[in-house]
Amino acid sequence: MNSDIKDIFADVALPLPIASLFTYRIPEELYGSIVPGMRVLVPFTNRFLTGFVLNLKEEKPEGRIKDIISRLDEEPVIDEGLLKLAEWISSYYLSPIGLTLRYFVPPAGKNKKSSTVNKPPVNKTLCEIIKSPFILNDEQIKCLDVICQNKNNFGVIVVHGITGSGKTEIYLQAIGDVISSGKEAIVMVPEIALTPQTISRFKERFGDNIAVLHSRLGPKKRLEEWRRIKNGEVKVVIGARSAVFAPLPNPGIIVIDEEHESTYKQEETPRYHARDVAIMRAKFCNALVILGTATPSLETYYNISTGKYKYITLNKRIEKSVLPEIEIVDMRGEVAKGNLDAFSETLINNINISLKRKEQIILFLNRRGFSSFVLCRKCGQVIKCRNCEVSLTYYLAKHRLQCHYCGCTEKLPSVCFSCGSEFLHHFGLGTERIEDHIKKMFPDARVARLDMEISRQKGEMERILNDFSENKIDILIGTQIIAKGHDFPNVTLVGVIFADITLNFPSFRSSERNFQLLTQVAGRAGRGDKPGKVIIQTHQPEHYSIKRACNHDYTGFYNEEIKYRRALFYPPFSFIINILFKNKNEKINLEAARRFFEIFQLSKNKSIQVVGPAPAVIPKINNFFHIQMILKGQSRVHLHECLLKTWHEFKKDKKFSSVKVLFDVDPLNMV
Ligand code: ADP
Ligand code: ZN
Ligand code: ZN
Repeated sequence: MNSDIKDIFADVALPLPIASLFTYRIPEELYGSIVPGMRVLVPFTNRFLTGFVLNLKEEKPEGRIKDIISRLDEEPVIDEGLLKLAEWISSYYLSPIGLTLRYFVPPAGKNKKSSTVNKPPVNKTLCEIIKSPFILNDEQIKCLDVICQNKNNFGVIVVHGITGSGKTEIYLQAIGDVISSGKEAIVMVPEIALTPQTISRFKERFGDNIAVLHSRLGPKKRLEEWRRIKNGEVKVVIGARSAVFAPLPNPGIIVIDEEHESTYKQEETPRYHARDVAIMRAKFCNALVILGTATPSLETYYNISTGKYKYITLNKRIEKSVLPEIEIVDMRGEVAKGNLDAFSETLINNINISLKRKEQIILFLNRRGFSSFVLCRKCGQVIKCRNCEVSLTYYLAKHRLQCHYCGCTEKLPSVCFSCGSEFLHHFGLGTERIEDHIKKMFPDARVARLDMEISRQKGEMERILNDFSENKIDILIGTQIIAKGHDFPNVTLVGVIFADITLNFPSFRSSERNFQLLTQVAGRAGRGDKPGKVIIQTHQPEHYSIKRACNHDYTGFYNEEIKYRRALFYPPFSFIINILFKNKNEKINLEAARRFFEIFQLSKNKSIQVVGPAPAVIPKINNFFHIQMILKGQSRVHLHECLLKTWHEFKKDKKFSSVKVLFDVDPLNMV
């Protein structure tokens, strides 16, 4: 360029489902005051949008370039490290950077220049923070030693400890150590509402130095917390997966509790896995990552076996409590005996024993509602959702049918709408039905139910968990909500009503999930000084995920599962990307998927396997038809390259502009 005044341009990320950046000119009056990481207001077609400045440049791009209208921040709201992280997420998960950045800064309000007032005095001295009320046992000491030896550098340490072995206490002390060296900590838990006990232990230990990122924080409070964190007023941030984006200036340790949990994966764009993002963040800022779990995910344990992650085990429960005895009940035997109920004799006997001793009971079933489908016995029609290709679940209390995918409800018809017969029969079990039966069988027991339906009612979950821990409830029935983390010392019996549900979920991860879930549920029994008992009812007692869970044998399970993964070319031996095509027009959708497939075939080499395109497990949700195509490859780089090339080519065909194409990298669910 030869003109006297050199223009400066900014690449801006806009909150649009488009992968590319947009270039704007910086007007003279804003020269020198705009830097990467700030938000700006820009014109876009016929409206104004807020975008993030990613970089500045002097060369003028082609075409007509518009001016930035104004800047919204006086200093960057995203620092260099976090910008790098956003770019990594965007390229790894194939998500537009503008949509990715939404998660890094709370939406409302402007960011004023942070005051240079001294940081407020912390209400506890650092010595107090580090002081623990406990004397660690040998295993804990060894574990903490390894963590301390590896601090101040990037690395991943897996703490593989059975439930109740004192992992949380180790996190608390390791964090105390990091804080006293002047850095900060992030703690991630699968779900805030499900881990009240863990949260309160962190609050007790760290007092005002902690910020808890609830999903229920209002926008104002959220912004306030975000500022406190960014200004370095907070030493520990605890939250669910989005805590990984907390703008701490200098994180030294990131703890991911229950690293195997599927809630760490976000099921909307960007479809990131918080554990993997945390590891990248730690890499960029030279921090240590602790992955805590009783049942490491297959990927994590594989990384241990190759030496990529360090590994510590905790095999003893604190105090004298021992792992519960587990008994499998073969439900096929019950049927043979003529017992068609959901409860075996063994389970009923044990419930009676526990009730007599005034001990508590947890009954677990991984399905909510009363029945899973309603079928006409005359014509065989199942009542399905109007919008989705899914059978409706019946809820007794509401006397309504509900769709678990789109949420719509319907009155239970009195006759079959297809043939008019009255023989409508409820099939399958749900927690509501179990509750109904249990209340009838044990009329004197105090019974409560906790599942997703209940937890949606404000305060109900807290109330029920509280009542249960205060012994005001004898029998608690629930879904996986009650399976995790909770510590109820008086629970001596856990019954798994139907272990086959998770096992038969259509996913290559179903055995792994089942093993994890059974181990978790079993971990709720016998946490106090009374021994616990677990009864697992199943129709597949010989399945390795059930047998190994019964023997508390993680390694045995891993060795069997990893063989199957290798043989079928599943992760960790391959990388998977699931492509989802969504459209209201079934024909266009199918055509689009086929076209995509054709282009992809041309760009890929032999090492990539393609499954589909085919209708997804649930072919229609909310009137949108779903087609999926699964890509499995040995090389992630190659897989990404081919996919991007295909996508580029595919987009040129305007015929398919109405078709939504979603990429799910490292999918957990392939529905
Ligand atoms: P995990 O996280 O592995 O399930 P926790 O850290 O929750 O285990 O420990 C289980 C229980 O034992 C908690 O109530 C905790 O306060 C207590 N605890 C942990 N470490 C010790 C210790 N060294 N001495 C006494 N009690 C401990
Ligand atoms: Zn009918
Ligand atoms: Zn529906």
